[in-house]
Amino acid sequence: MKYGVNEHGYYGDFGGAYIPEMLYPNVEELRQQYLTILNDASFKAEFDDLLKNYVGRPSPLYHAKRYSEKYGANIFFKREDLNHTGSHKINNAIGQILLAKRLGKKRIIAETGAGQHGVATATVCALMGIECVVYMGEIDMARQAPNVSRMKMLGATVRPASSGSKTLKDATNEALRDWIANPVDTHYIIGSVVGPYPYPDMVARFQSIISEETKKQLVEHTGKQLPEYVLACVGGGSNAMGMFYHFLDDESVKLVAVEAAGKGVDSGHSAATTFLGQEGVLHGSRTILMQTPDGQVVEPYSISAGLDYPGIGPQHAHLYKINRAQYVSVTDDEAMNAGLLCSQMEGIIPAIESSHALAQLEHMTFKATDNVVICLSGRGDKDLDTYIKHFNY
Ligand SMILES: *Cc1c(COP(=O)(O)O)cnc(C)c1O
Repeated sequence: MKYGVNEHGYYGDFGGAYIPEMLYPNVEELRQQYLTILNDASFKAEFDDLLKNYVGRPSPLYHAKRYSEKYGANIFFKREDLNHTGSHKINNAIGQILLAKRLGKKRIIAETGAGQHGVATATVCALMGIECVVYMGEIDMARQAPNVSRMKMLGATVRPASSGSKTLKDATNEALRDWIANPVDTHYIIGSVVGPYPYPDMVARFQSIISEETKKQLVEHTGKQLPEYVLACVGGGSNAMGMFYHFLDDESVKLVAVEAAGKGVDSGHSAATTFLGQEGVLHGSRTILMQTPDGQVVEPYSISAGLDYPGIGPQHAHLYKINRAQYVSVTDDEAMNAGLLCSQMEGIIPAIESSHALAQLEHMTFKATDNVVICLSGRGDKDLDTYIKHFNY
Protein backbone atom coordinates (compact mmCIF):
# COMPACT_ATOMS: atom_id res chain seq x y z
CA MET A 1 0.00 0.00 0.00
CA LYS A 2 1.48 3.28 -1.17
CA TYR A 3 0.28 5.27 1.84
CA GLY A 4 0.56 2.48 4.39
CA VAL A 5 3.05 2.04 7.19
CA ASN A 6 6.62 0.92 6.38
CA GLU A 7 8.46 -1.91 8.13
CA HIS A 8 9.87 0.54 10.68
CA GLY A 9 6.44 1.77 11.73
CA TYR A 10 6.59 5.07 9.83
CA TYR A 11 4.38 6.96 7.40
CA GLY A 12 6.89 9.26 5.73
CA ASP A 13 8.24 11.44 8.55
CA PHE A 14 5.59 10.35 11.06
CA GLY A 15 4.84 7.43 13.33
CA GLY A 16 7.34 5.24 15.16
CA ALA A 17 7.18 4.15 18.78
CA TYR A 18 8.48 6.80 21.19
CA ILE A 19 7.95 4.93 24.43
CA PRO A 20 9.67 4.58 27.79
CA GLU A 21 11.93 1.54 27.98
CA MET A 22 9.62 -0.10 30.51
CA LEU A 23 6.84 -0.32 27.91
CA TYR A 24 9.07 -1.84 25.27
CA PRO A 25 8.23 -5.53 25.96
CA ASN A 26 4.45 -4.89 25.71
CA VAL A 27 4.63 -2.91 22.49
CA GLU A 28 7.23 -5.23 20.98
CA GLU A 29 5.00 -8.27 21.62
CA LEU A 30 2.18 -6.53 19.75
CA ARG A 31 4.47 -5.49 16.92
CA GLN A 32 5.73 -9.03 16.41
CA GLN A 33 2.31 -10.66 16.52
CA TYR A 34 -0.38 -8.35 15.22
CA LEU A 35 -0.15 -9.07 11.50
CA THR A 36 0.08 -12.83 11.96
CA ILE A 37 -3.02 -12.77 14.17
CA LEU A 38 -5.00 -10.37 11.95
CA ASN A 39 -4.28 -12.50 8.87
CA ASP A 40 -5.22 -15.77 10.57
CA ALA A 41 -8.34 -17.34 9.05
CA SER A 42 -9.98 -18.15 12.40
CA PHE A 43 -9.40 -14.58 13.62
CA LYS A 44 -11.00 -13.17 10.46
CA ALA A 45 -13.96 -15.52 10.76
CA GLU A 46 -14.61 -14.54 14.39
CA PHE A 47 -14.16 -10.81 13.66
CA ASP A 48 -16.50 -10.95 10.65
CA ASP A 49 -19.11 -12.94 12.58
CA LEU A 50 -19.20 -10.43 15.45
CA LEU A 51 -19.29 -7.45 13.09
CA LYS A 52 -22.27 -9.00 11.35
CA ASN A 53 -24.28 -10.47 14.21
CA TYR A 54 -23.28 -8.30 17.17
CA VAL A 55 -22.54 -4.88 15.66
CA GLY A 56 -25.11 -5.18 12.87
CA ARG A 57 -22.82 -4.73 9.88
CA PRO A 58 -22.74 -3.93 7.06
CA SER A 59 -23.88 -0.46 8.07
CA PRO A 60 -26.10 1.02 5.33
CA LEU A 61 -24.86 3.46 2.72
CA TYR A 62 -27.84 5.78 2.64
CA HIS A 63 -28.60 8.04 -0.32
CA ALA A 64 -29.70 11.28 1.36
CA LYS A 65 -32.17 12.62 -1.20
CA ARG A 66 -33.03 15.96 0.37
CA TYR A 67 -29.37 16.68 1.06
CA SER A 68 -28.55 15.73 -2.52
CA GLU A 69 -31.08 18.26 -3.79
CA LYS A 70 -29.84 20.97 -1.45
CA TYR A 71 -26.14 20.55 -2.23
CA GLY A 72 -26.48 19.65 -5.92
CA ALA A 73 -24.71 16.29 -5.89
CA ASN A 74 -25.42 12.67 -4.91
CA ILE A 75 -24.83 12.71 -1.16
CA PHE A 76 -24.45 9.40 0.69
CA PHE A 77 -24.18 8.84 4.44
CA LYS A 78 -22.17 5.85 5.67
CA ARG A 79 -24.29 4.97 8.69
CA GLU A 80 -21.83 4.07 11.47
CA ASP A 81 -24.38 5.66 13.80
CA LEU A 82 -26.49 2.52 13.41
CA ASN A 83 -23.82 0.25 14.91
CA HIS A 84 -24.37 -1.34 18.33
CA THR A 85 -23.29 1.25 20.96
CA GLY A 86 -23.84 4.04 18.46
CA SER A 87 -20.59 4.70 16.64
CA HIS A 88 -17.64 3.28 14.69
CA LYS A 89 -15.63 2.76 17.90
CA ILE A 90 -17.04 -0.74 18.40
CA ASN A 91 -15.27 -2.01 15.22
CA ASN A 92 -11.87 -1.38 16.79
CA ALA A 93 -12.86 -2.54 20.28
CA ILE A 94 -13.95 -5.93 18.91
CA GLY A 95 -10.80 -6.29 16.83
CA GLN A 96 -8.54 -5.53 19.78
CA ILE A 97 -10.34 -7.78 22.27
CA LEU A 98 -10.06 -10.72 19.86
CA LEU A 99 -6.37 -9.93 19.46
CA ALA A 100 -5.91 -9.71 23.24
CA LYS A 101 -7.55 -13.12 23.68
CA ARG A 102 -5.15 -14.67 21.17
CA LEU A 103 -2.22 -13.10 23.01
CA GLY A 104 -3.44 -14.88 26.16
CA LYS A 105 -4.35 -11.65 27.99
CA LYS A 106 -6.72 -11.88 30.95
CA ARG A 107 -7.31 -8.22 31.63
CA ILE A 108 -8.10 -5.12 29.56
CA ILE A 109 -7.30 -1.50 30.34
CA ALA A 110 -8.32 1.63 28.45
CA GLU A 111 -8.40 5.37 28.91
CA THR A 112 -11.34 7.49 27.95
CA GLY A 113 -12.11 11.19 27.68
CA ALA A 114 -15.78 11.61 26.87
CA GLY A 115 -16.42 7.98 27.74
CA GLN A 116 -17.35 6.70 24.28
CA HIS A 117 -14.23 4.56 23.90
CA GLY A 118 -14.61 3.41 27.51
CA VAL A 119 -18.17 2.27 26.82
CA ALA A 120 -17.13 0.41 23.64
CA THR A 121 -14.31 -1.29 25.57
CA ALA A 122 -16.52 -2.19 28.55
CA THR A 123 -19.06 -3.60 26.09
CA VAL A 124 -16.66 -6.01 24.39
CA CYS A 125 -15.14 -7.04 27.74
CA ALA A 126 -18.62 -7.99 28.95
CA LEU A 127 -19.15 -9.89 25.71
CA MET A 128 -15.94 -11.88 26.25
CA GLY A 129 -16.09 -12.16 30.05
CA ILE A 130 -12.76 -10.35 30.51
CA GLU A 131 -11.90 -8.00 33.40
CA CYS A 132 -11.99 -4.33 32.34
CA VAL A 133 -10.46 -1.27 34.00
CA VAL A 134 -11.11 2.15 32.43
CA TYR A 135 -9.13 5.22 33.48
CA MET A 136 -10.95 8.52 33.25
CA GLY A 137 -10.08 12.02 34.44
CA GLU A 138 -12.03 13.12 37.53
CA ILE A 139 -13.39 16.17 35.73
CA ASP A 140 -14.44 14.07 32.73
CA MET A 141 -16.21 11.63 35.08
CA ALA A 142 -18.30 14.49 36.40
CA ARG A 143 -18.98 15.93 32.91
CA GLN A 144 -19.85 12.55 31.37
CA ALA A 145 -21.69 10.89 34.25
CA PRO A 146 -24.09 8.86 32.05
CA ASN A 147 -21.15 7.12 30.34
CA VAL A 148 -19.61 6.34 33.73
CA SER A 149 -22.90 4.68 34.70
CA ARG A 150 -22.95 2.75 31.42
CA MET A 151 -19.45 1.40 31.99
CA LYS A 152 -20.33 0.35 35.54
CA MET A 153 -23.54 -1.30 34.37
CA LEU A 154 -21.44 -3.25 31.85
CA GLY A 155 -19.25 -4.53 34.69
CA ALA A 156 -16.16 -2.36 34.19
CA THR A 157 -14.18 -0.66 36.96
CA VAL A 158 -13.82 3.07 36.32
CA ARG A 159 -10.73 4.51 38.03
CA PRO A 160 -10.53 8.29 38.39
CA ALA A 161 -7.35 10.07 37.31
CA SER A 162 -6.96 12.86 39.85
CA SER A 163 -3.59 14.33 38.88
CA GLY A 164 -2.83 17.28 36.56
CA SER A 165 -5.80 18.71 34.69
CA LYS A 166 -7.87 15.60 35.64
CA THR A 167 -8.78 14.97 32.00
CA LEU A 168 -7.83 12.67 29.12
CA LYS A 169 -4.06 13.08 29.20
CA ASP A 170 -3.96 12.28 32.91
CA ALA A 171 -6.12 9.20 32.33
CA THR A 172 -3.66 8.16 29.60
CA ASN A 173 -0.76 8.49 32.04
CA GLU A 174 -2.57 6.32 34.60
CA ALA A 175 -3.35 3.67 31.99
CA LEU A 176 0.30 3.59 30.87
CA ARG A 177 1.43 3.23 34.51
CA ASP A 178 -0.96 0.28 34.90
CA TRP A 179 0.36 -1.36 31.71
CA ILE A 180 3.97 -1.02 32.84
CA ALA A 181 3.03 -2.68 36.16
CA ASN A 182 1.06 -5.49 34.45
CA PRO A 183 2.89 -6.30 31.21
CA VAL A 184 2.15 -10.02 31.01
CA ASP A 185 -1.58 -10.42 31.58
CA THR A 186 -2.94 -7.03 30.38
CA HIS A 187 -3.74 -5.54 26.97
CA TYR A 188 -4.19 -1.79 26.55
CA ILE A 189 -6.97 -0.94 24.06
CA ILE A 190 -6.28 2.41 22.40
CA GLY A 191 -9.38 3.93 20.81
CA SER A 192 -8.06 5.80 17.77
CA VAL A 193 -5.30 5.68 15.14
CA VAL A 194 -2.83 7.20 17.62
CA GLY A 195 -0.14 5.89 19.95
CA PRO A 196 3.08 3.99 19.25
CA TYR A 197 3.40 1.67 16.25
CA PRO A 198 1.69 -0.79 15.71
CA TYR A 199 -1.46 0.84 17.15
CA PRO A 200 -2.14 3.34 14.33
CA ASP A 201 -1.89 0.61 11.69
CA MET A 202 -3.81 -1.94 13.75
CA VAL A 203 -6.72 0.41 14.46
CA ALA A 204 -6.81 1.60 10.81
CA ARG A 205 -7.11 -2.02 9.67
CA PHE A 206 -9.98 -2.70 12.07
CA GLN A 207 -11.79 0.44 10.92
CA SER A 208 -11.08 -0.18 7.23
CA ILE A 209 -14.27 -2.26 7.10
CA ILE A 210 -16.02 1.13 6.64
CA SER A 211 -14.50 1.82 3.21
CA GLU A 212 -14.45 -1.85 2.24
CA GLU A 213 -18.24 -1.95 2.57
CA THR A 214 -18.66 1.49 1.01
CA LYS A 215 -16.95 0.45 -2.23
CA LYS A 216 -19.34 -2.47 -2.69
CA GLN A 217 -22.36 -0.41 -1.72
CA LEU A 218 -21.43 2.38 -4.14
CA VAL A 219 -21.52 -0.12 -6.99
CA GLU A 220 -25.10 -1.01 -6.04
CA HIS A 221 -26.11 2.65 -5.86
CA THR A 222 -24.12 4.21 -8.68
CA GLY A 223 -22.63 1.38 -10.77
CA LYS A 224 -19.15 2.65 -9.81
CA GLN A 225 -16.80 1.79 -6.94
CA LEU A 226 -15.29 5.23 -6.65
CA PRO A 227 -16.96 8.44 -5.50
CA GLU A 228 -15.62 11.92 -6.30
CA TYR A 229 -15.40 12.94 -2.61
CA VAL A 230 -15.11 11.25 0.76
CA LEU A 231 -15.56 13.29 3.96
CA ALA A 232 -15.05 12.43 7.62
CA CYS A 233 -14.42 14.24 10.90
CA VAL A 234 -11.06 13.87 12.65
CA GLY A 235 -10.35 13.69 16.36
CA GLY A 236 -7.52 11.19 16.56
CA GLY A 237 -8.65 10.11 13.11
CA SER A 238 -9.99 6.55 13.30
CA ASN A 239 -13.35 6.95 11.55
CA ALA A 240 -11.65 9.07 8.88
CA MET A 241 -8.89 6.51 8.38
CA GLY A 242 -11.45 3.71 8.14
CA MET A 243 -13.45 5.76 5.64
CA PHE A 244 -10.35 6.68 3.58
CA TYR A 245 -8.48 3.37 3.78
CA HIS A 246 -9.59 1.55 0.63
CA PHE A 247 -9.71 4.80 -1.36
CA LEU A 248 -6.15 5.93 -0.54
CA ASP A 249 -4.60 4.39 -3.65
CA ASP A 250 -7.44 5.64 -5.89
CA GLU A 251 -5.95 9.08 -6.50
CA SER A 252 -9.06 10.37 -8.28
CA VAL A 253 -11.00 10.23 -4.99
CA LYS A 254 -10.72 13.52 -3.10
CA LEU A 255 -10.36 12.90 0.64
CA VAL A 256 -11.54 15.62 3.02
CA ALA A 257 -10.77 15.48 6.75
CA VAL A 258 -12.70 17.88 8.96
CA GLU A 259 -11.19 19.07 12.24
CA ALA A 260 -12.89 21.00 15.03
CA ALA A 261 -12.15 24.72 14.93
CA GLY A 262 -13.98 25.19 18.25
CA LYS A 263 -14.74 28.89 18.76
CA GLY A 264 -12.51 29.71 15.76
CA VAL A 265 -8.93 28.84 14.81
CA ASP A 266 -7.62 32.14 16.20
CA SER A 267 -9.77 32.20 19.34
CA GLY A 268 -7.45 30.26 21.64
CA HIS A 269 -10.29 27.70 22.00
CA SER A 270 -9.77 25.30 19.13
CA ALA A 271 -8.75 21.77 18.18
CA ALA A 272 -7.80 22.48 14.55
CA THR A 273 -4.57 20.50 14.76
CA THR A 274 -3.19 20.83 11.23
CA PHE A 275 -3.85 24.58 11.23
CA LEU A 276 -2.43 25.28 14.69
CA GLY A 277 0.03 22.46 15.22
CA GLN A 278 3.66 21.64 14.49
CA GLU A 279 5.56 18.39 14.21
CA GLY A 280 6.45 16.71 17.48
CA VAL A 281 5.86 13.64 19.61
CA LEU A 282 2.49 12.91 21.21
CA HIS A 283 1.33 9.72 22.93
CA GLY A 284 4.18 7.65 21.57
CA SER A 285 4.34 8.70 17.95
CA ARG A 286 5.83 11.45 15.82
CA THR A 287 2.95 13.46 14.41
CA ILE A 288 1.44 16.96 14.27
CA LEU A 289 0.19 18.40 17.54
CA MET A 290 -0.80 21.68 19.14
CA GLN A 291 2.13 22.79 21.33
CA THR A 292 3.75 25.81 22.89
CA PRO A 293 7.11 27.03 21.50
CA ASP A 294 8.86 25.01 24.21
CA GLY A 295 6.96 21.84 23.31
CA GLN A 296 4.24 21.66 25.97
CA VAL A 297 0.96 20.25 24.71
CA VAL A 298 -1.72 22.92 24.33
CA GLU A 299 -5.11 22.12 25.88
CA PRO A 300 -7.53 21.72 22.94
CA TYR A 301 -11.15 22.84 22.87
CA SER A 302 -14.20 21.68 20.90
CA ILE A 303 -17.89 21.53 21.76
CA SER A 304 -17.59 17.92 20.62
CA ALA A 305 -15.86 15.74 23.21
CA GLY A 306 -14.69 13.24 20.59
CA LEU A 307 -12.80 15.87 18.58
CA ASP A 308 -11.28 17.57 21.61
CA TYR A 309 -7.78 16.12 21.05
CA PRO A 310 -4.51 18.07 20.61
CA GLY A 311 -3.08 15.87 17.84
CA ILE A 312 -3.93 13.62 14.91
CA GLY A 313 -2.72 10.11 14.14
CA PRO A 314 0.62 9.85 12.31
CA GLN A 315 -0.92 8.56 9.07
CA HIS A 316 -3.08 11.69 8.94
CA ALA A 317 -0.01 13.86 9.53
CA HIS A 318 1.56 12.15 6.52
CA LEU A 319 -1.52 12.47 4.27
CA TYR A 320 -1.66 16.14 5.23
CA LYS A 321 2.01 16.83 4.55
CA ILE A 322 2.05 15.13 1.14
CA ASN A 323 -1.36 16.60 0.24
CA ARG A 324 -3.11 13.28 -0.40
CA ALA A 325 -6.00 14.47 1.79
CA GLN A 326 -7.29 17.97 2.41
CA TYR A 327 -7.55 19.06 6.07
CA VAL A 328 -10.13 21.72 6.90
CA SER A 329 -11.93 22.85 10.04
CA VAL A 330 -15.41 24.02 11.00
CA THR A 331 -16.50 25.87 14.13
CA ASP A 332 -18.77 24.75 16.96
CA ASP A 333 -21.58 26.93 15.60
CA GLU A 334 -21.27 25.58 12.06
CA ALA A 335 -21.31 22.01 13.34
CA MET A 336 -24.30 22.57 15.60
CA ASN A 337 -26.28 24.13 12.74
CA ALA A 338 -25.36 21.20 10.50
CA GLY A 339 -26.58 18.77 13.18
CA LEU A 340 -29.91 20.57 13.34
CA LEU A 341 -30.22 20.65 9.55
CA CYS A 342 -29.54 16.92 9.24
CA SER A 343 -32.08 16.18 11.97
CA GLN A 344 -34.78 18.21 10.25
CA MET A 345 -34.00 17.35 6.63
CA GLU A 346 -33.10 13.68 6.92
CA GLY A 347 -34.60 12.60 10.25
CA ILE A 348 -31.17 11.63 11.56
CA ILE A 349 -29.75 13.23 14.72
CA PRO A 350 -25.98 12.94 14.24
CA ALA A 351 -23.25 12.92 16.89
CA ILE A 352 -21.74 16.42 17.13
CA GLU A 353 -18.47 14.91 15.85
CA SER A 354 -20.22 13.76 12.67
CA SER A 355 -21.97 17.12 12.35
CA HIS A 356 -18.53 18.63 11.70
CA ALA A 357 -18.19 16.53 8.55
CA LEU A 358 -21.71 17.52 7.47
CA ALA A 359 -20.97 21.21 8.03
CA GLN A 360 -18.12 21.10 5.53
CA LEU A 361 -20.69 20.61 2.73
CA GLU A 362 -21.56 24.31 3.09
CA HIS A 363 -18.03 25.21 1.98
CA MET A 364 -17.95 22.99 -1.11
CA THR A 365 -19.33 23.21 -4.63
CA PHE A 366 -20.16 20.15 -6.66
CA LYS A 367 -21.01 19.01 -10.16
CA ALA A 368 -24.48 17.45 -10.38
CA THR A 369 -22.94 14.08 -11.24
CA ASP A 370 -20.56 14.02 -8.25
CA ASN A 371 -20.93 11.19 -5.76
CA VAL A 372 -20.07 12.28 -2.23
CA VAL A 373 -19.75 9.96 0.78
CA ILE A 374 -19.85 11.32 4.33
CA CYS A 375 -18.99 9.16 7.30
CA LEU A 376 -21.76 9.53 9.87
CA SER A 377 -19.47 8.32 12.64
CA GLY A 378 -22.06 8.26 15.43
CA ARG A 379 -25.55 9.01 16.62
CA GLY A 380 -26.52 12.10 18.56
CA ASP A 381 -28.36 10.60 21.53
CA LYS A 382 -25.34 11.24 23.76
CA ASP A 383 -25.33 14.89 22.62
CA LEU A 384 -28.96 15.86 23.09
CA ASP A 385 -28.25 18.01 26.17
CA THR A 386 -25.55 19.91 24.30
CA TYR A 387 -27.77 20.48 21.26
CA ILE A 388 -30.68 21.58 23.43
CA LYS A 389 -28.57 24.03 25.45
CA HIS A 390 -27.00 25.43 22.27
CA PHE A 391 -30.35 26.12 20.60
CA ASN A 392 -32.14 27.15 23.83
CA TYR A 393 -34.95 24.65 23.22
C1 LIG B 1 -14.71 9.27 19.23
C2 LIG B 1 -15.53 9.74 18.12
C3 LIG B 1 -14.99 10.45 17.02
C4 LIG B 1 -13.55 10.89 16.96
O1 LIG B 1 -12.62 9.85 16.94
P1 LIG B 1 -11.83 9.46 15.63
O2 LIG B 1 -10.79 8.51 16.11
O3 LIG B 1 -11.25 10.69 15.05
O4 LIG B 1 -12.80 8.82 14.71
C5 LIG B 1 -15.82 10.81 15.98
N1 LIG B 1 -17.15 10.51 15.99
C6 LIG B 1 -17.71 9.84 17.02
C7 LIG B 1 -19.16 9.55 16.97
C8 LIG B 1 -16.93 9.43 18.12
O5 LIG B 1 -17.51 8.78 19.13
